[in-house]
Amino acid sequence: MSEDTIFHRILRREIPADIVYEDDEVFAFRDIAPQAPVHVLFVPKESVRTLDAMQSSQSHLVGKLAYAAAEFARKEGFADDGYRVVINCNAHGGQTVFQLHLHLLAGAPLGRFGT
Ligand code: 5GP
Repeated sequence: MSEDTIFHRILRREIPADIVYEDDEVFAFRDIAPQAPVHVLFVPKESVRTLDAMQSSQSHLVGKLAYAAAEFARKEGFADDGYRVVINCNAHGGQTVFQLHLHLLAGAPLGRFGT
């Protein structure tokens, strides 16, 4: 990660976070302002500013984020109840941290999408 966001600082352990998963390409930690009983962010270690900025050579990372989230859901025992994964992109998507990340939301029935 050459760019610097709050997520890069979490990866470097410069600021605390509840890290729940890490491998060679991906790490995950609980969101500081959870929008559901379970709210975990899955982030690639490589710098990718947005989904839109992702290069073809980096596209496998989205699969890794999704697979790690699905594995987490299975291990935590809520996969059968269900969950939602979301990637926000740029301003209208509501992205506030400009390092690609996938939200995993679970633990209760979730509302439908809205504006
Ligand atoms: P975005 O809005 O970019 O899709 O999501 C960014 C997420 O990062 C938000 O849900 C926000 O609560 C979370 N977040 C921002 N700063 C921190 C932090 O310092 N620690 C943790 N754990 N989450 C953060």
